[in-house]
Amino acid sequence: MDHQFDVIVAGSGAGGMTAALCCAQLGLHTVLIEKSDRFGGTSAVSGGGIWIPCNDQMPGTGFSDSDAEALTYLKHLIGDAVPQSKLETYVRNAREMVKHMAEQFDVRFRVVPKYPDYYPDKPGGKDGARSMQPAIVDAAELGEEFFRQRPAFASTQVFGRIAMDQVEAHTLFARSTGWI
Ligand SMILES: Cc1cc2nc3c(=O)[nH]c(=O)nc-3n(C[C@H](O)[C@H](O)[C@H](O)COP(=O)(O)OP(=O)(O)OC[C@H]3O[C@@H](n4cnc5c(N)ncnc54)[C@H](O)[C@@H]3O)c2cc1C
Repeated sequence: MDHQFDVIVAGSGAGGMTAALCCAQLGLHTVLIEKSDRFGGTSAVSGGGIWIPCNDQMPGTGFSDSDAEALTYLKHLIGDAVPQSKLETYVRNAREMVKHMAEQFDVRFRVVPKYPDYYPDKPGGKDGARSMQPAIVDAAELGEEFFRQRPAFASTQVFGRIAMDQVEAHTLFARSTGWI
């Protein structure tokens, strides 16, 4: 290969894709390489939920949050395994990342009000609204590219064909209003 790049990103999951997109936006000559025959990695078959304390959509959900509470929660679960400065950086910048992805790239996330923290009873834990899921996109806009994405597991789809997001899954499994 006789090309030169400022940044070479290995792996086309959410981490690699986001890094490559942001590097390219900064004007860096960027290439993303993927070792498998499909892009998307584990991210493409995951639930797609991201943990964003103090996110911009929280106020409409009835939940409140603060950096201090989020930090208390993380610190309680993680202890000293991760430096305090990194935890603080995450808490401060997670919501900025969501904003940036929406404003710059039209990659949008929606708050999931009924998705609790995994340890809601621990100090700083919440019963909902810190998780966000990707907004639905029209796959037709991806054209042929759609078929090069790692497909979701059939067992996570209705009849092995119909995808559902986390809000729909909750409605279905809890048989709450509108589940049919
Ligand atoms: C069923 C399921 C549901 C999940 N749900 C959630 C959820 O809701 N929320 C959450 O936070 N997490 C969830 N997870 C975990 C989450 O999906 C992963 O932690 C996350 O996707 C990892 O992202 P990534 O970008 O680091 O890596 P990946 O998405 O795995 O991407 C890595 C990519 O790198 C490629 N690669 C590896 N080595 C090389 C190489 N040497 N050269 C080039 N390419 C390479 C791989 O082929 C792959 O495409 C879930 C996981 C599973 C399996």
